[in-house]
Amino acid sequence: MLNITRGGTFGAAAAPEDTGPDDLELRGVPAGLPSPEELAKLYPDTPFLIAYSRISDDWRKHNKKKAATSAWAAGKGVANQHRRNDKNAARHGAIIVHRYTDNDLSASKRDVVRPDFLAMQRDLRRGYTPEGYRVDGVICVDQDRVQRTNRDWEDFVDALTLDPARRFYTPSGPMDLTEESEIIKTGVMAVVNKAESLKKKRRIRDWHQDRILDGLPHSGPRPFGWDDDRIHLRPAEADFLLWAIRERIKGKAVKTLCLEAKKRGLTGTRGGEIVPQTLTQMMTAPRVCGYRANRGELVLDDNGAPIVGIWETIATPEEWRAVCATFKDGSTYLARGSGTPRITGIPKTIKYLASSLLRCQRVLEDEVGNKKKERVCNNPMGGSKTNRSRRSPYNYTCHKCSRNAISGPMVDKQIELLLMAKLEKAQATYKAPEVVWPLETQLKQKADKLAKLEAQWEADEISDEMFYRLAPKLETEVKKLRRERARFEMEARQGSEAPGDIMRKWKSGEYDLEQKRKVLFEVFAAIQVAPGEKGNKMPNPRRLTPIWKS
Ligand SMILES: [Zn+2]
Repeated sequence: MLNITRGGTFGAAAAPEDTGPDDLELRGVPAGLPSPEELAKLYPDTPFLIAYSRISDDWRKHNKKKAATSAWAAGKGVANQHRRNDKNAARHGAIIVHRYTDNDLSASKRDVVRPDFLAMQRDLRRGYTPEGYRVDGVICVDQDRVQRTNRDWEDFVDALTLDPARRFYTPSGPMDLTEESEIIKTGVMAVVNKAESLKKKRRIRDWHQDRILDGLPHSGPRPFGWDDDRIHLRPAEADFLLWAIRERIKGKAVKTLCLEAKKRGLTGTRGGEIVPQTLTQMMTAPRVCGYRANRGELVLDDNGAPIVGIWETIATPEEWRAVCATFKDGSTYLARGSGTPRITGIPKTIKYLASSLLRCQRVLEDEVGNKKKERVCNNPMGGSKTNRSRRSPYNYTCHKCSRNAISGPMVDKQIELLLMAKLEKAQATYKAPEVVWPLETQLKQKADKLAKLEAQWEADEISDEMFYRLAPKLETEVKKLRRERARFEMEARQGSEAPGDIMRKWKSGEYDLEQKRKVLFEVFAAIQVAPGEKGNKMPNPRRLTPIWKS
C-alpha cells in the first residue's frame, strides 16, 4: 500500500539540482512542516523519521560521474541525498521531521568530528528532535552514510535501539537493528562474523528488490501451486487453488475448502495439513494472479499499475480481488504476509443452520413499581447439543429467558420448506439483472490522472510540493473506487443468482452451512418462535412465524 498521504516532505522539499553552496544548509526542520502537536494529530499512525546525509570522498569515489572538488559539488551531493530520502520516506509511508547534514570533505583524517552526527545521536537518545517531534526512525540513502567507522555504527545502533520499535530506513525499507545491537553488546569476535552475515542478508534483500522490479519470482521455498522453479504450475495444487478461490467467491467457508484439500490428498509445501489460515494466505496471495507483494504492499510500476511477474498464474486479477474482498482486511495475504504483524484470535463458528435467525417470543413480566408490564423476550435463539432425545440431537434455545426451547431438526426442516416455497414463487417472475459497475469511467479517469501525475513527478516536470498536494487525494479516491468495484462485482455475482439455481444448489448439497445461512438471511428478516405448551413433547411447526424480507 503506497500511501503518499502520509509520506514525504512538506512545503519546499530538497533543493533542485541547480542550486548552489547553500545546499549544505539543508538541515533542520523541512519547510512547511506543521507543529509537532498538529503533525501527530494529522498523522497518528505514521512513522516520523529523521534524515541523515553526509558528503565525503568515499561517496564521490563510487560516483561514476567525474567528481568535482568544489563546495558546490559537495552541496549538490547532499541535496541529492536528501532528495532521495524524501522520495524513499514517501514510498515507505513515513514523514521526515528533521534533517542532519555533515560535510567530511574538508577533513581527510578519520577522526574528524561530525557535529550533526553527534546531534542526531543526542536526539535519538532523547527520543525527540530539538523542535519536539517524536523520532520513530532514521533514514539514509545507504548504511555507509552513518557507518563511517565501526565505532560510529555501534554508537548509532546503540542510540537507535534504545527504543526497540525504532527502525533504520534505507531505500529497501525499514530495518530492525535490535538484533545487530545484541551482537554488538555480546562481543567483538561475534560482531565480525555476524555483522558480515547481516550485511549479506541485506544485500540479498536488495537483490530481491531488483528482481521484484524485473517481475522475476522470489527465491526460497516454492509456493503452493507452483513447481520448485516458482514459475511453472503444479496442476493438482493449482487446480485446487483455482477451485477454492472460485468457491470462496461464491461464499463457501474456508473450512469446507480445507476439507476438499484433504479429500484430494493435498498438503502444504512442507507436508502439513492445509488449515484455514494457510489456505486464506494461499488464496489471497497476489502471486495467484501474477501480481507481487513486498512487505504487505502491492508492488507497482511508475504508472501505479501492479508489476506482473513472469510466472504462470492461477486466477485473474478480478478473481484475486474478489476473493480478497471475502475476507476482513486483517486476514488477507497483504495484511499478514511476510514482514507484517500477526493477528491472533479465531472467529466463533456457527454450527447450526438457524442460529440467531430465530427470535424468542415468550412473554415476560417485568415489575415496574407495583405494576406488572408485559413484553416479548425477542432474544436471538442459538443451537446447542442435547443428549436426551434421539429424535432431536440439538435444540434451539433462548439463553436470555432460558424458558423457550424448540427441536433443532424440526425447525431446520420447516425453514427449508418455507424457503423452497418462496424461491419457487420467485423463480416464476425472475429476470436476470444486467451487471455493470456504474463508476468504471470515473475510476479510469482518476487512475490515468494519477499515473500521469506520477510520471510528471518522476520526470521532474512538477515540484514535490505540487505532487504531494495533488497525489494523496487522487490515490485515496482510486483505492476507494477499486475496493468498491471489487465488492460490487462480488455482490453482483451472488445477488444475481436465479432463485432456481439457489434451490438446485441447496438441494444438491453444493452449499455449505455458511452459504446456506447467507441465503436464509437474505430471505428472512427473522423467524419468530412461540413458547411451547407445557407437557407437549411433540414438535410443533405452528410455533414458527416467518418474517420475510421485503
Ligand atoms: Zn427468551
